[in-house]
Amino acid sequence: MAETVYDLAIIGAGVMGLFTADFACRRGARVLLLDEWRLGDPRAASFSLTRSIRNDYLDPVYARLAFEARKLWLDFQRETGESFLIECGCLNLAKASITPDLSATYAEDSYRVLAGLHLKTEAFDRDGLRARFPQFDVDLGRLDVEAGFLHVPPITAALLARLRATGVAVAENTTVNRINHRQGRIAIDTNSGERLAERLVLTAGLGTNALLAKIDGCDLRLPLRPDRPSESKYLIPPPAKRAMFTPSRLPVFAYLDVGIYGHPMLEGKTPGVKIGYYNPPDVRTQVTSITSVQSFVEECMPELKDARVVDVEGADQCSYDLVADDNFILGPIPGLPGGAVGTGWRGTGYKFAPLIGRTLMELALETRTVEDISRFAPERFEVSRAG
Ligand SMILES: Cc1cc2nc3c(=O)[nH]c(=O)nc-3n(C[C@H](O)[C@H](O)[C@H](O)COP(=O)(O)OP(=O)(O)OC[C@H]3O[C@@H](n4cnc5c(N)ncnc54)[C@H](O)[C@@H]3O)c2cc1C
Repeated sequence: MAETVYDLAIIGAGVMGLFTADFACRRGARVLLLDEWRLGDPRAASFSLTRSIRNDYLDPVYARLAFEARKLWLDFQRETGESFLIECGCLNLAKASITPDLSATYAEDSYRVLAGLHLKTEAFDRDGLRARFPQFDVDLGRLDVEAGFLHVPPITAALLARLRATGVAVAENTTVNRINHRQGRIAIDTNSGERLAERLVLTAGLGTNALLAKIDGCDLRLPLRPDRPSESKYLIPPPAKRAMFTPSRLPVFAYLDVGIYGHPMLEGKTPGVKIGYYNPPDVRTQVTSITSVQSFVEECMPELKDARVVDVEGADQCSYDLVADDNFILGPIPGLPGGAVGTGWRGTGYKFAPLIGRTLMELALETRTVEDISRFAPERFEVSRAG
């Protein structure tokens, strides 16, 4: 029997690989999805319980892309008949006793960006906040209205079901030894034999450089590095208070000047209110009284002071894939005709996943991409260019 030649091989089956496969299948392509672990493995960043979906970036390019991705999430939700997008908004907070110049906070700066893009916002002063969101003791709140969080397990299940239904070939627990371009095709030598494809997409997160090193004639190496939140906790309120921490009353919240972000609890689905503490290395950290999840709770969410605290496990123990110049990496692989790569989502990629999956499919199978991705070109890191 003749060996199967796939239209597209995708290495890395996190959410980016799954959406790339999904878009390629919708276009009728024969797809191979290959991973060194099993699909859904919690060591991959994509398989947690919740991920925030927000537009409130300081850079309008990312804010706009996030909003475009949100439309694709809504389409996906409609098509699958699942309900996984919790539209509770995302509230950016600030308190003068912590960050005295309120006008220069992330909340205010991102609010201006959203307003500039004509995205829906709401602004609250201290009294307005006390009335609408009594969970907080802060001076200012700026709500990104068309935002919230994604409940991840049904998304993973829906993607896997669709891929199974369309007959995607899945190779789990598979190690790639070598990749080379041969007679117009891409040959992938693995521990379970050789696989052939017309096109290749790499969506292997922090594993991407190890794969690039296996491509004959490709000297691209990406300045990726792992970093992790300092803390990620579930705060489990006492029964009498639980209702005030569910998405009908509490939005996703963030005080990014001091590295805090949080998700409401999803009754029966998540153990409690999730709060993370993380100061990215590229952000100038202000010295404030907020040095942990607990100190944030004491100063800004006193209603949670009596909550039980447990660590968030699983995918939330994974690392962010930071990039030296703090921009996504998305585009053709220099030195591998027919190859494209997507990585470097810097701990913020999940919300963009359908947009990235569609773009990687377009790079592999079509002649142009809907979005202008020139800013994210991997070739900016080519050794020959740098030198
Ligand atoms: C703690 C944490 C919190 C986050 N919170 C948010 C959030 O609230 N909102 C948001 O939008 N984003 C968030 N993110 C980011 C988001 O989760 C990631 O950007 C996204 O899941 C990355 O998906 P991926 O498919 O690129 O990578 P992954 O999910 O890591 O998948 C990569 C896959 O590649 C495979 N692989 C690696 N090397 C190889 C190899 N050599 N051969 C074969 N396969 C290989 C791995 O086995 C893995 O399955 C968060 C990330 C973390 C870590």
